[in-house]
This record gives sequence, structure tokens and C-alpha cells, in this order.
Amino acid sequence: MKKKRTLLERLKAGIVIGAEGYLFEMERRGYLKAGAYVPEVVLDHPDALRQLHREFLRAGSDIMLAFTYYGHREKMKTIGREEELEILNHKAVQIAREVAAENNALVAGNISNTWVYDPNRHDETAPQTFKIFEEQVRWAVEEGVDFVLAETIDSLGEAQEALKAIKQFNLPAVVMLSSIDETTRDGYSFPDACHDLEKAGADVVGLNCTRGPITMMPVIEQIRDAVTCHVAAVPVTYRTTPDQPSFQTLKEPGKERAFPIELDPFEHTRSEMAAFALECKRVGVDYVGTCCGAGPHHVRAIAEALGRTVPASRYSPDLSQHAMLGKSVLDHNKPHLSKWKD
Ligand SMILES: [Zn+2]
Repeated sequence: MKKKRTLLERLKAGIVIGAEGYLFEMERRGYLKAGAYVPEVVLDHPDALRQLHREFLRAGSDIMLAFTYYGHREKMKTIGREEELEILNHKAVQIAREVAAENNALVAGNISNTWVYDPNRHDETAPQTFKIFEEQVRWAVEEGVDFVLAETIDSLGEAQEALKAIKQFNLPAVVMLSSIDETTRDGYSFPDACHDLEKAGADVVGLNCTRGPITMMPVIEQIRDAVTCHVAAVPVTYRTTPDQPSFQTLKEPGKERAFPIELDPFEHTRSEMAAFALECKRVGVDYVGTCCGAGPHHVRAIAEALGRTVPASRYSPDLSQHAMLGKSVLDHNKPHLSKWKD
């Protein structure tokens, strides 16, 4: 079997693509509940999850991220399934690993914000936060993950607990902060927080979720300038704006807030996500991904924009074959063409 290149080897060689968006996509497909947002699909419908992994893999993701997002003790308690916590964590990595092997992808363990950490009560809440991270990372390590990705973390203090939990197993660490405000909850600018995480041993730092490409990129550029390690940009695929910089704040005129289940009108198109990928390349982002809202078509567009041909490229659009928009329009269809053009 061909030896798998490590995350750091791949980052050295070029951009790594890390598709995410499992939570929103599984919810849309009817396999988990909006609200609690716990990855119950791992236990209840593993085939549905396997399929989505495979779709992201075929679309060009270099990473199969185990779906343990919010699969931590606090969240499992919320839905009364705490006793299934450990089995969920093991199974999620097993599924990711199984699909990753189909195209030599890396397998990542996944930890996420706990909602337990309070920067104003750091000494009191940090140990519990660490424990939540530590047990999830340990289960992921037992299943042989290649690295661990910590994400959607609002406070530098919580991110440092996550990093400590990963580093005690000597694994590469990707640590991504969530930027719903202009600073972290504990008051650091994102470039400063990322700089601190780099100093503490993170291999990749950056932002994920919350912001779409339009409002994430300016912050990413500042982070790029502030650190020497690898930088990750993993936005939601929604059209956030300077006035509504996070997907939590998006609102259509005269309507209620769209988050989290009315966001469809704000979806970015695949070509907009392709443009985002090129912007990442220009800025020097090393790890390009997608978060909430993403589908495989976005991921394929990103991969192709970065010059790759991926398994799903076999079916990439070719509108020259279209009956009305294509090269050969039958004579009897031609009188109707005006309706297709303007
Ligand atoms: Zn997200």
C-alpha cells in the first residue's frame, strides 16, 4: 500500500482541502435535529454519514473529518444519550477512516467548543473543558487519526485547552477560532490569538464557521501577517456582508433572522466558492475548507479552481451539451431561445 503523506508534508507541498459542513448537511437530509445539533447520525444512520463522507472525498477533500462535532459529553447530556458518548466517538472515526482509505485521504479527529468554558471563570471552568476535550481526543487517537482539528472556539483560553489536549498525544493540531465578534470572547484580536496558539504549538491556525468568505478573508489576511505557521480559512458558504458579518446575523429585509434553518437564500454559488479558493491562494492560505452550508458541489469547485481533477470531475458541468444553452439547438427549439438568454 502507498504510504500516506502526513498533514505537514501535504501542507508543505501545497494547499490542503478540508471539507466540512456535516452538521448542516445531515440536518438538511433529515438525520439530525436542528437545535441540539448532536451528530446522532453516527449511531442511528451510519450509511447516510458514510455517503456524505464519500461525496466530499470524491469532490476533492484531502481530509475525512470524523463527525464528532458536538459529540461531546455536554451535548450528549442535552439529548439524554451520554452513555453512548464513547461508542459514538469511536464509530465516527471508524467511518471516516473507512472512506478515507478509498482515496488516500487523511483522517482527522474533531473537537469543538464545549459551551462550558467561561473566560471570566477560567480557573473554575478550564479543567472541565480540558476533560471534555481530552476524552474525545483519546478515543480518536485509539482509532488511529492522523491529526486532530479543534474548531468553532470563541475564546483563546478554551482554544489553549483544546491544543493542550491534542499535544499531549503528540499529534499535529489544527486550531480554528470562531469569529462571531470582532475579538475572541476573552478579548484578543484574532491575529494575536492565532499568534499565541502558534507559540503554544499549533501547526495550523485560523478561522472556521460563523463568517462567510466575504467577511472572513479580511481577518484571514491579518492572521496570515501575524503568524509564520500554516493558516486555515474554513468559512460557512453563506453571503455574509460587512453589515451582517456572521451567518447568525443574516436577515432578509422584513424577515426574522435566518439562522439556522432559513439560510437558503444566502447560499453562495459554486463559482463564488471557486473565487474564494483563488483568493485563499493569493493570500497564502494553506488549508482551505468549507463549513456550514457547504455541499459537495462547492468542494469540487474549490478543488478545480486550485487546478485539481478529482473523482467527481468526471461529471463536472459542460453546458455545451445542454439542449437550449449548448452548441447544437434543434431548429424547432430555436424560436424559444429568447426565454433562456436574458
Ligand atoms: Zn460551521
